[in-house]
Amino acid sequence: MEAQTEERLLMDELEAGEAAVELDDKGPQEVLAWAIEKFGRRLGICSSFQAEGCALIDMAWRIDPGIRVFTIDTGRQPEETYRLIDRIRDKYGIRTEMFLPDTKIVEQMVTKHGNNLFYRDVNLRLLCCQVRKVLPLRRALMHFDGWVAGLRRDQWATRSNIRKIEIDHDHGGVVKIAPLADWTEDEVWEYIRANDIPYNELYGKGYPSIGCGPCTRPVKAGEDPRAGRWWWETGAPKECGMHCSIETGGFEHELAALLGNNGAHLGGNGNNG
Ligand code: SF4
Repeated sequence: MEAQTEERLLMDELEAGEAAVELDDKGPQEVLAWAIEKFGRRLGICSSFQAEGCALIDMAWRIDPGIRVFTIDTGRQPEETYRLIDRIRDKYGIRTEMFLPDTKIVEQMVTKHGNNLFYRDVNLRLLCCQVRKVLPLRRALMHFDGWVAGLRRDQWATRSNIRKIEIDHDHGGVVKIAPLADWTEDEVWEYIRANDIPYNELYGKGYPSIGCGPCTRPVKAGEDPRAGRWWWETGAPKECGMHCSIETGGFEHELAALLGNNGAHLGGNGNNG
């Protein structure tokens, strides 16, 4: 992928705030059309291939078949997710841009803490999420000026105030777009079924929210849809740090030690992104 060469199409707070107000009561297709018009090929849909991401890919592709889609491939995703990426490619002709974690950092982390470090301690889980998700996302976003995420306000308390257009200060001021912010889960599924959109097979096996294989399980009837994410943890946010900064004072020094001299080429400084 090409490095940043052109002038970036960033917005200031005032512009973004005005756009957020203007688009707040608009449907996802109108928000996507605005973003495509504004950012062109500097826009990317970031998808982990959950239902929301699949719906957004379909909506955006209908507006612009050349829409860019990217994903953070943590290396621990379920096989069903990889199969879905292929099905999306077959249906839409979209080659998902894959951003992987830095090999050296992963090697150091799993050598020191083991492959399944996340089950032992919240801070080790957050460390793994930083290495496998947050740092690759930071690198990915150097290739975009606007990124689209499938966040919805009713998914979790930390998401209840998201705006459809925001400046993403954790990632150099790129513009973050959440066209589905005010949609419900039912509306997403209605759209998927009405348009025959490929979706992850795990939804049919009791998984209402899908992340990495070892950190996601099916939920029981009546449980919160995100209860299957990091289900062994109590009191920790059901977030990985990609969509909101997490600071615990526990994993940061370990991350800084792992990054060491590798930090520069990752675009990171050891702080949470
Ligand atoms: S979800 Fe689990 S396996 Fe995936 S990056 Fe986070 S801790 Fe690691």
